Amino acid sequence: MQKTEMLYEGKAKKVYATENPELYIVSYKDDATAFNGLKKGTIAGKGVINNRVTNYLMKMLEENGVPTHFVEEISDSETVVKKVSIVPLEVIIRNISAGSFSKRYGVEEGIVFEQPTIEFSYKNDDLGDPLLNEYHALALKLATREEIDTIKAMAFKVNALMKEFFLKINVELVDFKLEFGRLSDGTIVLADEISPDTCRFWDSRTHEKLDKDRFRRDLGNVEGAYQEMMRRILGE
Ligand code: ADP
Ligand code: UDP
Repeated sequence: MQKTEMLYEGKAKKVYATENPELYIVSYKDDATAFNGLKKGTIAGKGVINNRVTNYLMKMLEENGVPTHFVEEISDSETVVKKVSIVPLEVIIRNISAGSFSKRYGVEEGIVFEQPTIEFSYKNDDLGDPLLNEYHALALKLATREEIDTIKAMAFKVNALMKEFFLKINVELVDFKLEFGRLSDGTIVLADEISPDTCRFWDSRTHEKLDKDRFRRDLGNVEGAYQEMMRRILGE
């Protein structure tokens, strides 16, 4: 599979067209941003880690009945994926309070919820990805009622599978962001990435942060945390 033209360069990945109109190639970068692009930097080795971690998790989810965009890893930092039209919603699942949840509701980080929560943001950088509810998403025609119901069911299934997976490698899955897309026939599949950039991971025993919060909060050893997560997930 060959890249043809670059269609999009985002904050963390580049997206290329291929000779096959139904397939794209995504190329993961070491660039890191936080706070809606206000903080910029690089994390050495992140592109490779996020590519390999995402693909491992997408394959695990596929094997457990979650349809994804994953097709084939073609290099350490590049993957062939099914082309989708991205539903412009960031779907956030939380198992433990942290980040913007703690800030918004004035609660400490680390409260373990009895049930996971779900929330949606409108994926729109110019507006700073504002929080919205299902009625707002319907009013803005970002997705249909059926699509929202499918997305919610898939997101909770992903959470159940991932929580179980991470527990076995001594990682608490605190929260994460998912994106979904429509294939040309309208089928909803899981897209984008699942990585230390898009999830909060805490070591089960020490509660050490093993994710992008080390970059956001200048906690040091960012590269080491990403490497440790890849090592645990891939079992290397
Ligand atoms: P951002 O756009 O937030 O800066 P990235 O740098 O990760 O994010 O860019 C990757 C872009 O590719 C994102 O906008 C994402 O929604 C989109 N994307 C992910 N998977 C697919 C896919 N299978 N088909 C089309 N677009 C995709
Ligand atoms: N997240 C993400 N992209 C975003 C916003 C959030 O991947 O644009 C992830 C983030 O890494 C965390 C989860 O979604 O795992 C919840 O993030 P939160 O709403 O707490 O926001 P933040 O603390 O990043 O402002």
